[in-house]
Amino acid sequence: LRQRNASSLRLALELKKHLQVYGMVSDAFFEYDYAAQRLIISTPHAGEDGEAELKSYFLGGTEEIDPFIGAFVDFVRQSEDGMHEKQLPRDNGQLHWLRVATRTIHDDHGKRAYTVGRISDIEEERRAQQELLEKAQRDSLTGLFNTAAGRQRSEELLAGLRGGNRDALILLDIDYFKEVNDRYGHRRGDWVLTRVAEVLRSSFRPEDVIGRPGGDEFVVYLRGARELAALGERCGPLCRRIRELSRDGLHLSVSIGAALAGPGDSYEAVYERADQALYRAKDAGRDRYILVPWPGDTQGVAGDEALRG
Ligand code: GH3
Ligand code: MG
Repeated sequence: LRQRNASSLRLALELKKHLQVYGMVSDAFFEYDYAAQRLIISTPHAGEDGEAELKSYFLGGTEEIDPFIGAFVDFVRQSEDGMHEKQLPRDNGQLHWLRVATRTIHDDHGKRAYTVGRISDIEEERRAQQELLEKAQRDSLTGLFNTAAGRQRSEELLAGLRGGNRDALILLDIDYFKEVNDRYGHRRGDWVLTRVAEVLRSSFRPEDVIGRPGGDEFVVYLRGARELAALGERCGPLCRRIRELSRDGLHLSVSIGAALAGPGDSYEAVYERADQALYRAKDAGRDRYILVPWPGDTQGVAGDEALRG
């Protein structure tokens, strides 16, 4: 009896040490017993003196089980040994990112006996990662997409274009922008760039892709552009709204080259057509737009004049 008593005291002391250690980290530890269908999980800082608290859940019963515990055990039962990142529903039913390390112990017959492991909440880490990722895709002055991100998104949309649907690529370059910088200073130049970005943001829908590849050039991938006339109806007001930004002797205007895109088009090809049109708009005196039909649609387009605004 004395021996038994001494050994259970030792066990109790052992457990207390473990709980203290578990309480020192913000992670939770768990063990799942397959035969008993029981999950034991340590919640850090929940017990006395900063100790972790152990909670035990029986999964073989009929009573309702916490959705997180149910989903977690389902995941544990199927997981291979290793490190996993997984979204599971937390207290309020909202999905939460967790990093779970698992290790399974098998019995003599190779059957799963226990899975033990560690759970870290990485929701904050994931959110910060996501924010950084989004920031890296943006131009810091205007918040529009930068070259690579704008192009990638546009290419994805272009690849999904089918049948008679037409999208469009609109290239827009501010006229005589160097003069704005030279006469009014770089800060005023930056002000103009942000205003133009605002005009673009409010002129298109969130599903369109608006980017600033650099300098005073902007690019819009417009979804569902339909035909040339409809594209003109988008470009005309754009030119007008930017002209309306003129003030205090500063005259502002833009030149636009816009090309329709059809199924099977490559981004390079559409960009090249729009860029050529932009060049022609500049060459013809600026403050205007020139539209290019999709090469497969040229039938039914009246002369060049019809393409100009
Ligand atoms: P054009 O009508 O032919 O387009 O003439 P432009 O003077 O606008 O010529 P261009 O488009 O080549 O000039 C771009 C200028 O934009 C050159 C550079 O000084 C200026 N620029 C580029 N990036 C920035 C920026 O971030 N801020 C400001 N303020 N200016 C910039
Ligand atoms: Mg320019």
